[in-house]
Amino acid sequence: MPVERIEGFRTDRGDQQTSGQEAEEELERGLLLTTLDKAVSWARKQSMWPVTFGLACCAIELMTTGTSKYDLARWGMELFRASPRQSDLMIVAGRVSQKMAPVLRTIYDQMPEPRWVISMGVCASYGGMFTNYAIVQGVDTIVPVDVYVPGCPPRPEMLMYGILRLHEKVQKEGRFR
Ligand code: SF4
Repeated sequence: MPVERIEGFRTDRGDQQTSGQEAEEELERGLLLTTLDKAVSWARKQSMWPVTFGLACCAIELMTTGTSKYDLARWGMELFRASPRQSDLMIVAGRVSQKMAPVLRTIYDQMPEPRWVISMGVCASYGGMFTNYAIVQGVDTIVPVDVYVPGCPPRPEMLMYGILRLHEKVQKEGRFR
């Protein structure tokens, strides 16, 4: 009886040791993945390439944001790509007409994952002053929107603030996992 107890105890200790090792390995894996995740998220947010996609008057401010005065290059964003295949950010700058809606969705679908969307200006966000049948009443009815930038039109500083908020979101998301 005492021997069995001792053996049982040994077995228990052995299990405990095994589970302890597993926990340590799991912890190391977790730490490694978390660190890698942070590094990947940091690289992603520091090298977003927006797709060239201006729809209306808001696009003038969007273009201004890319000039040397505001310098989007500080965040690795100086390259507005002509191809959605090379882009991971869509900035919807201006009102979206019903005719343009399927085009917008197609371009979004052609962008590789992970991808993000900023709705720039009141027209893109909810139709703005264009409360009529010709204009989509919010681009989020077509594509998922990550950040809404208010204003008519939003100044470059506002767009940059929206971009920085998106960066925070990307860093927290950790999509690598
Ligand atoms: S929010 Fe103002 S500036 Fe932007 S598309 Fe609408 S009307 Fe034009």
